[in-house]
Amino acid sequence: AYMFRGKVGTINFLMVRLSNGIVFLLTSAIIFVYTMFISFELFGHYGFASDIPAKRRVRLCYILGIIGTIMVIVSQFNDMYYSFDATNLYHRGHFYYLAVAIPSVSMAIMLTVLIQFRKRVNLVKWFILSSYIILPAAAFTIQVFVYGYSFFNIAMGFSFILMFIESVVAQGKEVLRVARTEVRTGLLNEHGCVEEFNSMRNKPEILDFASVFIDIEKFSSVNRKYGMDVGNKVLVKFAETMMDNMEKEEFFGRQGSDLFIAGVKKRNLSRVLKLLESVTLTIDLNSNNDGKAEKLEIPISSVAGVFEIDDMDIGGEDIISNASLALNHAKTVSKKPVVYMTKEMRDAIDEKRLFETRLPKALADNEFVAYYQPKVNVRTKTLCGAEALSRWIRNGTMISPGKFIPMMEVNDSICELDFYILKKVCEDVNGWIEQGLDPVPVSVNFSRRNLSNPHLAADIDSMVSSFRIPKKLIEIEITETNDEFPINVLKDFVREMRKLGYRTAIDDFGCGSSSLSVLREITFDVLKIDKGFIENAYAKDMTILSYIIKMSKAIGLEIVAEGVEQKEQFDTLEMLGADLIQGYYFDRPLPKETLQMRLENRDYK
Ligand code: C2E
Ligand code: CA
Ligand code: CA
Repeated sequence: AYMFRGKVGTINFLMVRLSNGIVFLLTSAIIFVYTMFISFELFGHYGFASDIPAKRRVRLCYILGIIGTIMVIVSQFNDMYYSFDATNLYHRGHFYYLAVAIPSVSMAIMLTVLIQFRKRVNLVKWFILSSYIILPAAAFTIQVFVYGYSFFNIAMGFSFILMFIESVVAQGKEVLRVARTEVRTGLLNEHGCVEEFNSMRNKPEILDFASVFIDIEKFSSVNRKYGMDVGNKVLVKFAETMMDNMEKEEFFGRQGSDLFIAGVKKRNLSRVLKLLESVTLTIDLNSNNDGKAEKLEIPISSVAGVFEIDDMDIGGEDIISNASLALNHAKTVSKKPVVYMTKEMRDAIDEKRLFETRLPKALADNEFVAYYQPKVNVRTKTLCGAEALSRWIRNGTMISPGKFIPMMEVNDSICELDFYILKKVCEDVNGWIEQGLDPVPVSVNFSRRNLSNPHLAADIDSMVSSFRIPKKLIEIEITETNDEFPINVLKDFVREMRKLGYRTAIDDFGCGSSSLSVLREITFDVLKIDKGFIENAYAKDMTILSYIIKMSKAIGLEIVAEGVEQKEQFDTLEMLGADLIQGYYFDRPLPKETLQMRLENRDYK
């Protein structure tokens, strides 16, 4: 349009006017849009109606934008801004400089706003935002001298592209920020905290940090008492208060509900923990009408688990989970407001994890063996039975059942173990028979979880029968405690076992709650008195013990006393009439070779 000369048709002439008019119009209208954009970027608001800083300047720019646009429209119908001569050559009109001055003034005003509030955006963004003023201004200066080349428009286009790219990048960052932020409080979420720690991984500064896992105590009562709204405010206020007391590199995030995660420098730990232990939050309740703010004072105390990072190469998830394990310990075991993750705790956890992964394989790899603890006849003082107790031999070290049985009880692998031990016992007993020894009856522990197997008795019988050893040599011990199964299931099992020719023992008798009814309902052959009774034989226990023994004898049960360690205990039990004694007083659980020696010489006198 600028360059066009010569005779043209009406259509061409109109095209030139139209395109020229649109360029003017857009240049002016964009001032309006640009003002909106800057205002939003700096103040988070367009500033038409609401109060923002620099609102007068921003509004003036809007007015200038509108005036400029109107003027451009008006100028399309006269020669104010520009005209075309007979050869279609473009000429500036008398008021042309007004067309430039209006946008320029508004740009200059926005530049003052940008300069004054430059701190509100980062430097790169600031340059890009102001490029829309600076670049066209420079281009325009050139254009004044070298008239005819539209650097001006190129400069605007260039700045536009910059702004576009910047906003795409910023949006990408925003998506990341949102992924790391928790909605209600605006704090980092768990993922965000993990990332914070991960960003320090393998850098020495990570060793200055500790992770703290925090649980507000009795928070549900705050919710109940004041309602969810106040509850939410308390959470936000709590986080704000904590963050006010932390350094820039430290962080405070929320895991969910009333659980928080913090990354605290070790040297600030005691201060932060003290605050966590008790802090009073002042909550503003804006009451609706009278505008008077009501204040509420809520004391907050929390429990914290602390993990002091001592290894540069540790991932964020582990760092947080260590603190959370310490918190768990604080709540369930130690009942203290603050618990540090210690080496012992970590070792125990590591061991547990190791066991959990190793256990399933251990069965397949034959890592379990049966140990035998002798049972001694009270009157004759000779060996007359043994209990098979499982041991896990791992890399040459022996692990006792206290460590792995509870883990196996969680799933049904305990049942596999019980059958595995039964098989070992059958093998050993068979071996002794073949060597011409006369083995004593061996009792095998069966977890109550086995009761979910409807063929339990038949399964046990087929295992024992496959070795063709006398059935009287195998006895099954089962505990009374467990509410999982109705008593009838146990009753049927015991009855079936009797029918098949095996003896059953009720194990750990006296530590459960249903002892008496179990005795009344089910006809066991043997009763094993719980260790607890023998350990602390107080006067009251003694009375109960004597009645248990009397009663059991009356209904024809054989009585085994477990956990006998001292001569006095033995004497008491002898006096009360127990039949068999099992305990360290005579022997610990022994490897099968040692038991074999006991079989050869059964005397304990
Ligand atoms: P339990 O059936 O009550 O076994 C007796 C436990 O008392 C054994 O512990 C034994 O070593 C211990 N003990 C024996 N005499 C004394 C004593 O004089 N003083 C003290 N302080 N303790 C004594 P162990 O071998 O550690 O076994 C612990 C528990 O693990 C057993 O308690 C049993 O419930 C379970 N268990 C062991 N092996 C098996 C198994 O193969 N299957 C199942 N289901 N449970 C098993
Ligand atoms: Ca037992
Ligand atoms: Ca027992």
